Order: sequence, then C-alpha cells, then structure tokens
Amino acid sequence: MTQSSPATKKTLSLRRAVILAQAIGFLVILLVISLGVYVFIFNSEQTLWQGRQSDFAQTAARLVNDNLRQSAAFLDIINDLDDDEHFSDIVSNIASKYPTIQEVIVLDADANILAISSTDTPVLSNLFTIQQSNWFLSAKAGDSYLGNLQFSAQNKPYIILARPFERTGGAIAIRLDMEILNEVVRGIRFGDTGNAYLADSDGQILAHNDFSIVERNTSIAGRLELEQALNQEGINFSAYFNFLGQEVIGSSLKIEGTTWFVFTEVEQEEAYATSGNALVFLGGGLILLFVMVILFTIGFLQRLVFSRIEKLQTAANQVTAGDLSVQVPIKRMDEIGLLTSAFNTMTTALNKNNEDLRHARDEAIDAKEIAQENNRLKSEFLSTMSHELRTPLNAIEGFTGIMLGGMGIELDMKARGMVERISTNSKRLVDLVNDFLDLSRIESGRMDLVDVPFSPSDLVEKWRRQLSVLADQKDLLFTVTVDPSLPARLLGDDDALSKIGQNLLGNAFKFTEQGRVTLDLKRDGDNWQIIVSDTGIGIPSHAHDYIFDEFRQVDGSSTRKYGGTGLGLAIVQKLVRLMGGTIRLESELGEGSTFIVTLPLKSAETQTAGVLTL
Ligand code: ADP
Repeated sequence: MTQSSPATKKTLSLRRAVILAQAIGFLVILLVISLGVYVFIFNSEQTLWQGRQSDFAQTAARLVNDNLRQSAAFLDIINDLDDDEHFSDIVSNIASKYPTIQEVIVLDADANILAISSTDTPVLSNLFTIQQSNWFLSAKAGDSYLGNLQFSAQNKPYIILARPFERTGGAIAIRLDMEILNEVVRGIRFGDTGNAYLADSDGQILAHNDFSIVERNTSIAGRLELEQALNQEGINFSAYFNFLGQEVIGSSLKIEGTTWFVFTEVEQEEAYATSGNALVFLGGGLILLFVMVILFTIGFLQRLVFSRIEKLQTAANQVTAGDLSVQVPIKRMDEIGLLTSAFNTMTTALNKNNEDLRHARDEAIDAKEIAQENNRLKSEFLSTMSHELRTPLNAIEGFTGIMLGGMGIELDMKARGMVERISTNSKRLVDLVNDFLDLSRIESGRMDLVDVPFSPSDLVEKWRRQLSVLADQKDLLFTVTVDPSLPARLLGDDDALSKIGQNLLGNAFKFTEQGRVTLDLKRDGDNWQIIVSDTGIGIPSHAHDYIFDEFRQVDGSSTRKYGGTGLGLAIVQKLVRLMGGTIRLESELGEGSTFIVTLPLKSAETQTAGVLTL
C-alpha cells in the first residue's frame, strides 16, 4: 500500500514551485530581452536620424555662411581699392564675378555715389533718401550692417550688407541674392518626410520647401522649437509638434554670422518606423510565445492531470456499476499517482470485503436452511413423539382410572396410594405432551385458529370454575371482573384463549403463597385485554424477556420447588402473536406479577343479532 509521506509531498511541492519559478523567470527574461532590443533599436534609430539631421543642418549653415563670407571678402576688396578714375568700372567688374551680388553701391560721407552697379532694377540707389537708410547710417558710424531678409517684387529674397568705406568715411553696400537659401532648403530632403526651413530670431520663416509658407509671412515666434534654438548653443534636438501640427523630431542650428536658424525636421512616424515595427514584432512574438506556452501548458496538464483524472473517473464509474476488480495503472508517483494508488488499494479492499460478505452471506443462507430444516425436523419429531407417547399414556390413564374406580381389582391402601401417584404423574405427562404438541403445531404452522362467537363472561367463568380449586388449596383470594363496556359476544378461538388464560392463571396460583390472584377482562379502544395479576414472588427485570423462551425459568432451582417445564409462557406468547396481539409483563421481585395480553377486538354482536332474529 502506497502512502504519501510528508517528505514526498514536500518534494512534489518544491518541484512544482521550481517549475513555476522557471516559467516565470523565462517569461521575465524574454520580456527584458525584448525591452532591451526595443530600446536598442529605438536609440539606434534616434541616433541615426539625429546624425542625418545634424549633417544637413550643418551643411545648410555652412552654405549660407560661405555665401556671406564671400560677400564680406568682396567688401574687403572694394575697401582696399585705390582711388582711380575707373573706380566705378573696376567695382562693377569685380562685382560681376560674384553671381550672388545683384547690386553694389559705394558712397562718400555725404552719400555721393562713387560707384554703382546693378544686374537688375536697382534698389539701393533708388532709396528715397540714402542718407536716412539704416545701412548707410551704420556704415558711416563705422559699423558693419547686415539687413533683414527682404523679398523683391518677384519674390526673390535678398539682404543688404554694408561696411564703412574707410577712404571717404562713407559706405559700401551690396544687395545679395539670397536665392541660395531656397536652394539650400530645397536641397535638404531626407527620408520621405525629412525637410528643412530657415527662420530668423524673430521667428519669421525665411525659406521653406513650400514657398507659400514664406509668402504668407509665417512666423514661429513663441514656439518651443524657436525658444530652444534661441536658448541653446550648437545643435539642438527634440521631439515636438511643429507649426504645421506634425509630430516631429527636429534639430535647430544657428547660422554663424547671422541671426538665422536652420531647422531640420522628420515626422516621428517615419523616424521611429523601425522601432514601431520592432515593437509590433516583439509584442506579437511575445503574445505568440505566451499563447504557445498556454497551449503547451494545457497539453501538458491534459497529459499530466486531466487524462489521468478521467481514467480515475471511469474506474470510479465502473466501481459504482459494481465492478470492484478495476485497477488503474500508475504512470508516475505524483499527487495523482498517490491518489490512484489509494484508489487501487481501496478497490482491492472493497473487492476483498465484498468477497468475504458474499461468502458470509452464502454461509448464512446455508445455516438458515439447515436451521429451518432442523426446526422442521424438531417439530416433526415433537409431533410424532407426542402422538406416539399419548397412546400409551392414555392406556396408563385408562387402566389407573379403572384400578382406582375399583373395577376388576381390589387395592389395599398402599397399592392405592401408588396407583394414585401413577395417575397424577401420567396426567402431568399428558399435559407435557400436550404442551409439546401445541408448540410443534404452532411452530410448524399447523395450528389453525378458528374464530367463533363466544361470551367473554362465560369464558372467564369457565376458567374460574376450573382454577378456583387451586385458590382454595392455598387459601388465596381469587377475583374475576369483566369490563361492562366489552361487547357481550366476541369473535375468537376460545380453545386458544383458554390456553392463554389457564396458563397465566396456573402460573399466578403456582407462584403465589398468600394474598390474591385477579383476572380482569378490559376494553382498550379497539382492543381488549386479559389481565392476570398476583401477589406472588414476582419476576426480576432481567428475566422479563427470556421467561417467554422455551424451557426457560427464572431460576432452575424453582423447577424443583414449583414444578413446571418452562413451556407455558412460550405457548402463550406464540398464540397471542398468532392472534395479532401482544403480551406485556409488569413485575418486580417480591412484588407480584401482572401479565397483560392485548388482542384486537372483534365483536360478534351484529352476527348474533342476525341469528337471534330468525
Ligand atoms: P413453567 O411455569 O412451566 O415453569 P412457564 O413458561 O409458564 O413455565 O413460566 C416460565 C417461568 O416464568 C416460570 O418457571 C417462572 O419462573 C416464571 N413465572 C411465570 N409466571 C410467573 C408468576 N405469575 N410469578 C412468578 N414467576 C412466574
């Protein structure tokens, strides 16, 4: 028999805990790896895009800056020129070498034009009053001037650059074509959404891929990207919603020598596309893995637990159906293995018990049959014996009667005494044989009770007459009462009733030495009662049951004192039961006894009334 020891249970629980911990650990590691991979991809992608943006921003800044430096170099050259009668021509000549210089003007301190050259409609010399223009006043005061970006009537961007003309205390000014800005912006395209634009420190957009934005005088004043650009040195990266409402990652860089900034931006959706895909892939992979783990677990449980429990259930059903020979194979000795083992042990024990029970039942049936047969044989024997004994006893009875009657033989006193004793004993023997005969008849079911109408008063009167001699012998008071509520005539077997009454009264007189014996017939609802009471020796309570058994007496020694066989009460009880009634005893040792026989009341009055009217 297999028992689950505490040690085994502990091992199993530990193993389960280890498996669980491993599974959780495995999932956590996978999660961490996935997170790591995602962060790595995200960072790489960010670095990549920042690198590209930085490159473009710096290139753009350099291009613009180069352009301005070239122009500054031109101004230096003009400043260094000697006074010459061909000064103006020389200036025009040099200016023509610079494709971005659209107009140049050299003035003395009084704003008199010393040289002038223009590739299109002049702007500088057309100023209403040169002397009040900012660029002239700055240069004349000895400062360099870089004007704001402006747009020509043809929407071409330009700026005015001026420098003091040292020789005269006047100014050299040039109008620079800033189409380069648009070219720079147009040249910066990266990815699908990556682009650049330029804005000045006031937020005014100077160049944009979409020129209409420039045309509309769009401003990014107050926006986060501009604030960051203004407040930080060098290149600056961040994620924000740009002025067009797009979610972007962007960079800003100041163009050296100007108050302008180049902004490069790419939409986040594109920038982080790979990270997004990776996230979807890793998330999907994890979910897939999770589902696989669950499926695997279910399969595993199915194999490890459910199918085995199903087998146990099937076996339990077989047991319920009565097949106790069933045994379930044990695959492994875990909890279910232990349960299966206990189940097998239980069915084995049940099977054995069942076998034992069947065996015992068979034996009991055999014993019962034997007992019944024995009882039948006993009754048969008693019946036969009684019949056989009665014949010679009747002969003895007859002959002793003749002898005592003085017929045929003269007996002297001594011989007469002997014959009288023979007669008495043969009478007792006849009584005994009759008792045997009654008992055997009742037991073998051959005692047929016949209901006839009788008068209860007459019946008890008959008993009184028969037994009052005993009362007289012992000088006992003998009273008989009949309940007036009893019907005058009842139905019943008067022979059997007499056997009951005479037996009980006989015992009462036998076991009473002084006092009285009473016989009462009473009505008790639908029943009637024969109550025999005495003031005799009484019966101890332990004997109340067994005195109704055959050949049982309260005390064997009393047999010698009172005589008797121990059959009377057995016959009484069997007859009472045969009549559908009960017998009850109330008695204490030394306090007298009362036997109460209760029988169903069957009135014969209606029948007799019918008879009487005839
Ligand atoms: P018997 O009287 O022939 O011995 P019974 O079956 O009639 O056999 O009675 C069985 C025993 O019950 C008696 O031997 C006696 O011990 C006890 N018994 C029966 N009736 C009385 C009684 N009225 N008073 C005292 N004992 C009694």
